[in-house]
Amino acid sequence: MTDSLTVTDGHVAPAGLDPDTLVMMLDALGEFVGHALPAKLQLELDHEDVCPEDIVRAMSDPNQLGVQLVFVPEAYGGMDGGAFDSYRVCEVMARHDIGLATAVFATFLGSDPILFGGTVEQKQRWLGAIAEQGLVFAYGATEPDAGSDLGAMKTTAVRIEDDGVVTGYRITGRKQWISNGSIADVTTVLARTPDGPSWFVVPKETPGLTAAHPEDKHGLRLSNTAALFLDDVDVPADHLIGEVEGRGLIQAQQVFGYTRVMVAAFGLGGGWEALDRAIEYSLERQQGGAPLAEKQGFTHKLIVPHAVRLEAARSYIEDTADKIDRGLGENGAMNTEGAIAKLMATEAGNAAADAAIQAHGGYGYTREYVVEKIKRDVRITTIYEGTSEIMEMTIARDRWQQHLKTSGAYYRDRAAELSSLETTHPTVGAGHAALAMQALAAVLEACRVARLTRNQHVLFRLGELITHAECAEALAQRAATALGGNRHEKSPDRFDGAALAAMSRVFAREAAQKLGQEGVRWVAGSVDSGSADVAPLLATIPHDAIRASQSGLLADMDRVADVLYGRTS
Ligand SMILES: Cc1cc2nc3c(=O)[nH]c(=O)nc-3n(C[C@H](O)[C@H](O)[C@H](O)COP(=O)(O)OP(=O)(O)OC[C@H]3O[C@@H](n4cnc5c(N)ncnc54)[C@H](O)[C@@H]3O)c2cc1C
Repeated sequence: MTDSLTVTDGHVAPAGLDPDTLVMMLDALGEFVGHALPAKLQLELDHEDVCPEDIVRAMSDPNQLGVQLVFVPEAYGGMDGGAFDSYRVCEVMARHDIGLATAVFATFLGSDPILFGGTVEQKQRWLGAIAEQGLVFAYGATEPDAGSDLGAMKTTAVRIEDDGVVTGYRITGRKQWISNGSIADVTTVLARTPDGPSWFVVPKETPGLTAAHPEDKHGLRLSNTAALFLDDVDVPADHLIGEVEGRGLIQAQQVFGYTRVMVAAFGLGGGWEALDRAIEYSLERQQGGAPLAEKQGFTHKLIVPHAVRLEAARSYIEDTADKIDRGLGENGAMNTEGAIAKLMATEAGNAAADAAIQAHGGYGYTREYVVEKIKRDVRITTIYEGTSEIMEMTIARDRWQQHLKTSGAYYRDRAAELSSLETTHPTVGAGHAALAMQALAAVLEACRVARLTRNQHVLFRLGELITHAECAEALAQRAATALGGNRHEKSPDRFDGAALAAMSRVFAREAAQKLGQEGVRWVAGSVDSGSADVAPLLATIPHDAIRASQSGLLADMDRVADVLYGRTS
């Protein structure tokens, strides 16, 4: 990750690798993991619940793969990759194994507080060691009683003083579910100091630091996850990140936009890997006298909707990563966007992997078929780095404020922009996405008038609805950009503009339908008798237009299926 942006000819060039270097890294990654972790070994390790520490270390070793160099700034010996690069690397890693991807991610997460909050000396020392020696890190935030609510954390760091000068800290507490917990060379630990939560660098050999036996998990079994015990762990004062107490939660929150995009990419990678396996299987598997690939009842339930949801998620991931690389992600500015990307991609990835098991029938339910493992692995992505419900809350709270601040214009304006896009690019589903935005604006206004966000469930459902509307917008915009020949230079080119347009029309119709139906459901289902009458507001939801927009849906799903199966239509 880069510290700075380059200004060329008055334009801000996005941070990150040049496209050729990115392609080289992705190729090297594929080759390395493909060689080090053949499918048979992968299934064995999963079955035996073993973390291949040698592979994790080789991936981090700058003399071998050195994948973590992408995440380290050039100033400290890295390659200065940006958010877009990180998303591409994370997706490819996740396609191979989300457990291994998690091990690499943990080093990134663990070093984040240093990158964003460390002194220059701390960055040189610790980021330099990651780049030069391939140190493996862990990120120690969660505790047994403090997961989603880190404010409930109990681990303490007491000052050690000598003649009134703070010379170190004594850390005591317990951390839970720590990725790389028992293999990491260094763990960054969040602990309460007298002036508030703060991050500390704790090397593995520090007396008093011990790891529990690794967890026996549902999935992600190639990733080491362990509780950590800190019993009077003494660290010198310069192990306090930033050397100022009380900045820990701010340092953690500053990078959520970035880190959530990375976990979103895990959902995307896991989901697409499972779906591609289902596509391949359905070309071979004969039922009812023909391959499953030719059965519309199979493809249009188990393949097509998942492909379009994953591509909607990709569009949002790419848009957010690009904005971060253009410097719009400072100080947590893209946290809501990161949450939308994560919610959409990880829920879509999870659903796609589940559908891939169904697509394999009984075979999909056995350990011999990799989709069974992917389903268990990808399941974690809706839990760690902020659960889906916490994402819904984050999204709804922020966009609710935007709705209030703009007196309801926030989504009405976005609907108008999509309607304009429909006039210039009539094939990209922008009109359907505009309907979703209009419905969203009406639902939010009804919630304001009747004060419905007092109900936590309504607030969270708004988070989900907002996510679908904004992802429909992002996919329509990406399709338009691809049709105009201006695709992001680092975006994969599996689908051309026409294919993305068909996908967008399918997804935007789904989003419009969802917004219209579920929006009304939660508003009508939560108004108190005697509260303000929301009926006139609900009447502004363009139900007739949403219904009319479904026309042509099946034909578009046929088109998407043809694209996915390489059939010329
Ligand atoms: C395999 C694995 C690896 C992990 N790696 C790391 C790591 O490296 N470092 C690290 O620090 N942590 C790590 N975690 C921890 C992970 O981030 C937490 O598990 C996650 O944040 C959820 O916290 P929790 O488990 O305490 O669940 P809880 O916070 O107790 O949540 C339980 C349920 O309640 C919901 N919920 C929570 N709060 C609310 C609320 N206010 N309103 C409504 N619903 C709510 C949640 O969405 C969830 O469905 C890992 C976890 C796992 C399983």
